[in-house]
Amino acid sequence: MEICIVPVGEAGEDLRDLIFFIKDVLSEVFYAIVRVEKAMEIPVSAYNPARNQFNSTEILKRLPARCDVTIGITDADLYANGLNFVFGEAELGGKRAIVSIARLRPYGTKFYGIYNRADADRMLKIRTLKEVMHELGHVFGLEHCRNPRCVMHFSNSVMDTDLKDWMYCDVCKRKLEMMGIRIKL
Ligand code: ZN
Ligand code: ZN
Repeated sequence: MEICIVPVGEAGEDLRDLIFFIKDVLSEVFYAIVRVEKAMEIPVSAYNPARNQFNSTEILKRLPARCDVTIGITDADLYANGLNFVFGEAELGGKRAIVSIARLRPYGTKFYGIYNRADADRMLKIRTLKEVMHELGHVFGLEHCRNPRCVMHFSNSVMDTDLKDWMYCDVCKRKLEMMGIRIKL
């Protein structure tokens, strides 16, 4: 399986670090070839000036779909119709997903509390990994899981994200295996 990661919008140093962390984990977990592609600009049409946010669906449909799976990672604050914000969005059973780190940052005053930098960086990595695994699960065809520890459990807030594990539960893992997705235990 080939997974491509596309930085969407401005990719500062910390986003770059984060992307390479995600790349390493995904290549190991899914026995995949993971490539980091050239950054893509955020489509102007995705910006909603009234909300000062970006429409995730609009970005999702403009992501390239050359690889088996393409994941866009962005620092832009995303929303979807009917929702104040989203951590990400995926094409269920499709090929593409987008994840935003804007609401996963534990530091600064942007959205959530304040921690020391090293802890904050580690926390951001883990949270991003969970959101990426979640959206990937959707791309592979998984729906939400009732198990609050499962990465396929729906996160309403970053607190839910922190509660769950970064891996699929046994039930979801079995479903993935039946879909032909190999996962390292
Ligand atoms: Zn979901
Ligand atoms: Zn599950």
